[in-house]
Amino acid sequence: MTELKTRRAIIAACLAMEAKGINQGTSGNVSVRRGEGMLITPSALPYDQTTPEDIAWIGFDETAAGPRKPSSEWRFHLDILRARPEVGAIVHAHPPACTALAIMHRPIPAIHYMIAAAGGPDIRCAPYATYGTPELSAHAVEALQDRDACLLAHHGAIFLGPSLDRALWLAVEVEALARQYLDCLKIGEPPVLPDDEIERVREKFTNYGYGAGKGG
Ligand code: 13P
Ligand code: ZN
Repeated sequence: MTELKTRRAIIAACLAMEAKGINQGTSGNVSVRRGEGMLITPSALPYDQTTPEDIAWIGFDETAAGPRKPSSEWRFHLDILRARPEVGAIVHAHPPACTALAIMHRPIPAIHYMIAAAGGPDIRCAPYATYGTPELSAHAVEALQDRDACLLAHHGAIFLGPSLDRALWLAVEVEALARQYLDCLKIGEPPVLPDDEIERVREKFTNYGYGAGKGG
């Protein structure tokens, strides 16, 4: 993909987040790996006013370029891309159901086989830290170990993928799981699928086209 196409794809993904009901306003941010760094959304700019030129560049050496301030969460985007060479794109959002669970510090257990798409039998909730801090980044990298999604306490969620399309797809799937879990909790603590079943599903997904889990 040319750099311009990637910049356009980032803006399209941000607009899609709102259309799909997984984000609102200027919350959230999106990055795509490119060469020795990443392209990332600017900070606090409404997505419908964002142009390809507004997308910022940050190298793995932490040098930044672009006419605008990069997203305040550039650090966790950069740290995740450094820690996970197979990850090509990162979507951060404040999806309503994921965030409700994150406020309650509740990881998502294996209530539905689709959790395998996020890489394993649970989606962890990273402890709270102020947005944009190295502490939040460290918590996120840890919660994402062997997973492509995590919740952020009192904040939102992060979704990873080899491509931007896949990361966005996962965000929608995990938000659906979060809604299902919230519905179940109205009745009681739901039963969960065993770990070996989620591992079986994860392997099956590789052939199904979901290319699931562990960064895949
Ligand atoms: P930015 O507008 O700086 O990307 O911040 C939004 C956000 O979600 C912070 O966590
Ligand atoms: Zn946020």
